[in-house]
Amino acid sequence: MSNLETVVSEIVDEMRQRTDRGEVARYIPELARVDPGHFGLAVIGADGTVAAAGDCDVPFSIQSISKVFTLTLALGMVGDKLWRRVGREPSGSPFNSVVQLEYERGIPRNPFINAGAIAVTDLILSGHQPREALGEILRFMQFLAQDATITIDEAVAASEQRTGFRNVALANYMKSFEVIDNPVEYTLGVYFHHCAISMTCRQLAVAGRFLAHSGRDPSTGLSVVQAERAKRINAVMLTCGHYDGSGEFAYRVGLPGKSGVGGGILAVAPGRASIAVWAPGLDAAGNSHLGRIALERLTKRLGWSIFGE
Ligand code: GLU
Repeated sequence: MSNLETVVSEIVDEMRQRTDRGEVARYIPELARVDPGHFGLAVIGADGTVAAAGDCDVPFSIQSISKVFTLTLALGMVGDKLWRRVGREPSGSPFNSVVQLEYERGIPRNPFINAGAIAVTDLILSGHQPREALGEILRFMQFLAQDATITIDEAVAASEQRTGFRNVALANYMKSFEVIDNPVEYTLGVYFHHCAISMTCRQLAVAGRFLAHSGRDPSTGLSVVQAERAKRINAVMLTCGHYDGSGEFAYRVGLPGKSGVGGGILAVAPGRASIAVWAPGLDAAGNSHLGRIALERLTKRLGWSIFGE
């Protein structure tokens, strides 16, 4: 076993035994049914070596991790004009905060809070039918993960479509400031569906590799985005990827990362590795409780924090 494999398997053993698992997201009924006992971890090194253990091949709802990929796609479509619609400052507020939008006249703080991601989805949708926009997002995920079997969990999407009242409020509020161009129900339909993409840790770690390697997938040599763009997406992940838990994540883990309420986290160790972890129980800020602890262990043992050993 390599050192990386040993570290990954020891972390998975420890996390499986822990009883402090956090609480699964209950506001999306379909996510409330997920067993909090799951734990998966996959790490893909620069040379393509994979160290994966636990439930690393069990698909889960990626939820807000999809926002990293919609941001990448939208930047490719509209370029830096995107930043006229969405800011790039940490929010310091919960992921679905309404009050902040009012203070800031309908311009979301960053592309990773719900309002910001809905505005980004609206940019992708413009000029397309919702089905085409969603197909574009799903194909982008399949391309990056090199796996055409990745799908959307329709039950999760329908569950959120029935109960996502706050997101409806955020979208309508932005619409009143003309930050949303398309009919609100279309934009939200695409948003709920891309949040409901179902992936495994292994697939997600493959999909994130371009962010760890200056915009290029090292296995194919293909450039996904310019190095400068990858650097900037990583910067936004570091400062905004965990909502109002972003400071704590940077302090403890020291890597750009994006969490989702399905309990997944995608983390990027620049030049070193792409990492995906899944533990469905969340902390008070809506981020994976054991996922964060596992990443803290990993970066500490391997000296991977971007801030030093
Ligand atoms: N679909 C979820 C929502 O809009 C995503 C939230 C998250 O994963 O943090 O509430």
